[in-house]
Amino acid sequence: MARRALITGITGQDGSYLAEHLLREGYEVWGLARGQANPRVSRMRKLLADVQVVRGDLLDQGSLISAVERVQPDEVYNLGAISFVPMSWEQAELTAEVTGMGVLRMLEAIRVCSGVSRGGAAAGGQIRFYQASSSEMFGQVSETPQNERTGFHPRSPYGVAKAYGHFLTQNYRESYGMFAVSGILFNHESPRRGAEFVTRKVSLGVARIKLGLADELRLGNLEARRDWGFAGDYVRAMHLMLQAATPEDYVIGTGRMKSVRELAEAAFAAAGLDWERYVVTDQALHRPAEVDLLCADPKKARVQLGWEPTVSFDELVALMVESDIRLLSDGGDPDQDSSWP
Ligand code: NDP
Ligand code: GDP
Repeated sequence: MARRALITGITGQDGSYLAEHLLREGYEVWGLARGQANPRVSRMRKLLADVQVVRGDLLDQGSLISAVERVQPDEVYNLGAISFVPMSWEQAELTAEVTGMGVLRMLEAIRVCSGVSRGGAAAGGQIRFYQASSSEMFGQVSETPQNERTGFHPRSPYGVAKAYGHFLTQNYRESYGMFAVSGILFNHESPRRGAEFVTRKVSLGVARIKLGLADELRLGNLEARRDWGFAGDYVRAMHLMLQAATPEDYVIGTGRMKSVRELAEAAFAAAGLDWERYVVTDQALHRPAEVDLLCADPKKARVQLGWEPTVSFDELVALMVESDIRLLSDGGDPDQDSSWP
């Protein structure tokens, strides 16, 4: 019988790549989708026709219990979150509820449905759980590159909420013997990335300028540095973590860091343009507290999971720019995410 996976955040970037990966691996894939008339759910149903939808919301404990009871998953991937850092200052409480408390609700749904209690006979349960932890938990870094033992100093309500979910996942593993793990993923991007994130903002900006639809691109802090990889590579790591013999947390990234300035330079160059003619910096786009740099040490994942990224920074940037030029040339509307998947 096919193994069954339940993915929260199925309408997001990672949900789409993970669903495709698991379908290729022969899984029966279910996506948890929220809302009564959520256009992203209709789009997902059209584009990922083999994914079955179960209704539920990370804000609603009962709905998560019902979803787990209905799907009877072997694996749960908790990707649902308010995931955009600036939004987490504007809606800090909602971020705590969805990105932080949502993890508690999902873990409780699994615990209750598997009949797991502290020291109980069914200790551990059968359902394996993946939590989408984030390099934003490192925040103001104490060492670089960052590995599984690096301390956390989150710099946004998003990073704080993710740290709560991370420690809670570890605690459920230790308290109940659950197979519950966190992937500490560094920034990963693709043509399906939300238009608000800097990589996609840049690739769309370059495409608009190339096609004569805009004449400048406004950005915030050009000196921030990130370890950017390709989302399609990172979802393979999520799956591998749940196939391991023992439940452990892993850092996932490329181990290479680039600045926003270098990102802009590479993206404009990919379209044959000089970034300095078009990029305008805007103080209003700077953050109340910045994460200056993030760089992964993914050695544990390489050694223990055999995981390696396959797409370089330059390839990623070029593929996003090409995709957005094609999208806009075809009259697509990025706000409707029409390049997805
Ligand atoms: P997206 O922002 O693309 O997707 C977020 C998903 O969360 C959407 O499907 C959204 O659904 C869902 N969601 C939002 N609120 C709720 C809710 N109340 N109940 C259920 N689902 C909800 O994120 P990504 O795909 O990029 O990231 C996946 C996960 O990985 C996130 O948790 C993110 O924080 C984390 N992460 C991402 C990194 C990255 O670089 N991409 C790096 C490290 C961690 P809807 O369509 O209904 O809004
Ligand atoms: P994050 O690392 O999850 O916050 O991912 P983002 O893509 O949103 O931001 C990455 C970095 O780019 C951060 O340090 C931002 O301050 C920086 N940045 C500079 N200009 C912009 C911009 O216009 N938009 C966004 N989203 N980030 C920007």
